[in-house]
Amino acid sequence: MPRKLFGLLLTFLLAATTAWPAQGIPLTDGAGAALGNLPFVARGDERQVPLAMLVRAAGWSAEQQDGRQVIALPGDTVTLRLGNAFGRAGNHFVQLRLAPEEWDGSLWIPLSNLRDLFPRDVEILPEARAVRVRVVPPAVTDTSQRGSAEALPEQWVLRTVVVDPGHGGKDSGARGLYNLLEKDITLDIGRRLARLLGQRGLNAELTRSGDRFVSLQERTRLANEKQGDLLISIHCNSSRRPESRGVEAYFLKPARTERAIEAAMRENDVVKLENGDAQYQDLTQNNYILLTMATSQYMRDSETWAAHTVRTTATSVGLESRGVDQAGFYVLMGASMPAVLIECGFLTNPDDAKVLGSERGRQKIAEALLESILRMKTGLEGSASR
Ligand SMILES: [Zn+2]
Repeated sequence: MPRKLFGLLLTFLLAATTAWPAQGIPLTDGAGAALGNLPFVARGDERQVPLAMLVRAAGWSAEQQDGRQVIALPGDTVTLRLGNAFGRAGNHFVQLRLAPEEWDGSLWIPLSNLRDLFPRDVEILPEARAVRVRVVPPAVTDTSQRGSAEALPEQWVLRTVVVDPGHGGKDSGARGLYNLLEKDITLDIGRRLARLLGQRGLNAELTRSGDRFVSLQERTRLANEKQGDLLISIHCNSSRRPESRGVEAYFLKPARTERAIEAAMRENDVVKLENGDAQYQDLTQNNYILLTMATSQYMRDSETWAAHTVRTTATSVGLESRGVDQAGFYVLMGASMPAVLIECGFLTNPDDAKVLGSERGRQKIAEALLESILRMKTGLEGSASR
């Protein structure tokens, strides 16, 4: 299908999908405490579930390379390969009912084989009412963070923020007043934010640190690979109407408003510049639902964070608040962490462009974004320790 047409179709689907799909299989720890929901996709009488979510919930460590995923759990190593129906658990092979499939950097594997692959660590309750995982205390899995793990035993700590400066290279993004290019502004704000995060002892991972083209899928993949705890995609707005102004933020959920649909179309449009049609063609409606289900457990946190970003930016930078909305952005799909996309002002509005065109303005925006992240850190760490 031509990409433009495909983009339109997808946008339509995002707008049309109003009924929210079932939430998947309840995932709990060994004692039965809820850890979220494990989404699945039906394949005949089998269900494929996302390995990455299981790994994260259980606190295992995983490494992925060329479609091969190696999972290290206490006393055992499990290896799975994309498209290969044989997995390896310790020293023996496990024949899977279906070969693993890949979505945005994560392998999806058959539910009924979880017991074979992780006999001591995963339990499936009868009729798949729930999946139980034995959770590894953080201090055991992550020796590099030993200091903080000792200070806060068994407490989840926000460590890594993935900062995604929108556009780059041959994709300039929006063009604004005073010859401002979106890709330059987003990169500068992103770098400033990364520096500020570093000063606060947080690990910042930039999806690009120079004027380089990075595909949307690559950005999400990188965010998952770096095991980010939060993902922020930074953008600037543009409009034919010079009076349009202000800051707005989005989280991933099917769009409801025309404005949100337009924003998603504009930011997804870069797909046209990416090489190779294949990577997005699999985003049919079924798979779109699958991807958003994988992300749905982070939806509430994403929405909260989006509201923080708009509030802090509007207050401390003086940009008008356009609020928070939901839409389907490729770059947020499949991210295994709370994720927001922020449009920090209009390059086509004289007042906003003055802020975005000045170092001081961009520094203030970065500081406001840092503040929103620190608020999320406090909130998430507080709720994780309960
Ligand atoms: Zn953009």
